[in-house]
Amino acid sequence: MDINPHATSQPGGDDGDAFAGLNDDAGSPLANELIETERKRRALEAAEFPIPSSTRIFAVSNQKGGVGKTTTSVNVAAALAQRGANVLVIDADPQGNASTALGVEHHEGTPSIYDVLLDDTPMARVAQRSKDIPSLWCIPATIDLAGADIELVSVVRREFRLHDALHELLEGPGKNLDYIFIDCPPSLGLLTLNAMVVAQEVLIPIQCEYYALEGLTQLIKTVDMVRKHLNKGLTLSTIVLTMYDARTNLAREVAGEVRGHFPSQTLETTIPRSVRVSEAPSFGRTVITHDPHSSGAVAYLAVAKEIAERGAPHQQEAGSR
Ligand code: ATP
Ligand code: MG
Repeated sequence: MDINPHATSQPGGDDGDAFAGLNDDAGSPLANELIETERKRRALEAAEFPIPSSTRIFAVSNQKGGVGKTTTSVNVAAALAQRGANVLVIDADPQGNASTALGVEHHEGTPSIYDVLLDDTPMARVAQRSKDIPSLWCIPATIDLAGADIELVSVVRREFRLHDALHELLEGPGKNLDYIFIDCPPSLGLLTLNAMVVAQEVLIPIQCEYYALEGLTQLIKTVDMVRKHLNKGLTLSTIVLTMYDARTNLAREVAGEVRGHFPSQTLETTIPRSVRVSEAPSFGRTVITHDPHSSGAVAYLAVAKEIAERGAPHQQEAGSR
């Protein structure tokens, strides 16, 4: 890694100091980056995060796999919860990655979203509180959910199962929830449809790489179709650019193209690639608590702030907590 452009001399070289400039912050890109990240973190720590006047429900969706849906769901949720909001993450993916990242029980047979969707179990009965952040809850997914896309086909109100269950929760024990993030699987099947039917907002994470925009047309068509036939309140409100590497032309080009097509939806903050982000789930934690000083945690905190400040698409007034 090019720690310092000035530290190029060899031992015994002309200036006799192979490490010249290594500790010279003004010349070290790495040190400058660390200082800048810490400056941003402190500013975010001091900032107020507005609380919405009613519950905002997001479907975090992209049928392309591995673009950062789960990572974005859990980290934005954790960031908002840490800043005072009551937040629920619904794991709607049989892979159960959001449940892993939030450190909640989700082995086969654990009461989960499957029981909610297929057996009318109330959501409150399967929700688990995160160990790290007391105002963050998760409805886990287990491998049982793997058959749900097919099992739901023959169920009454199959597109509204999540809608009905979530509204029951919001009218009772979940009435003080400020945000709900539904982590969708990488497909546009019935699970994703259920999420879009109950959500007000769609959040699309886009990984800044080749093929990033392929499939986006299909996703947007699905959102339009749901809006037309099943949920007229649905808006594609938010696009988050993930795993962004500012050093590559490709990432900059993809980001430019996304911003060109979706100027008002694409958040200013981009999420950098970060080892801390990718290792956090193996500790059953989000990066927000795993390493709050890391560039990934600070970026997700900034995304959370942008989402909070923008407010819901049709409801701009917000109180603060
Ligand atoms: P799937 O479609 O399988 O549900 P996904 O869209 O939910 O995937 P994630 O699971 O969030 O995507 O991320 C895919 C992989 O990329 C994971 O291994 C995750 O740890 C890693 N990853 C996500 N964001 C970052 C990041 N900012 N820096 C480094 N690694 C990341
Ligand atoms: Mg996922």
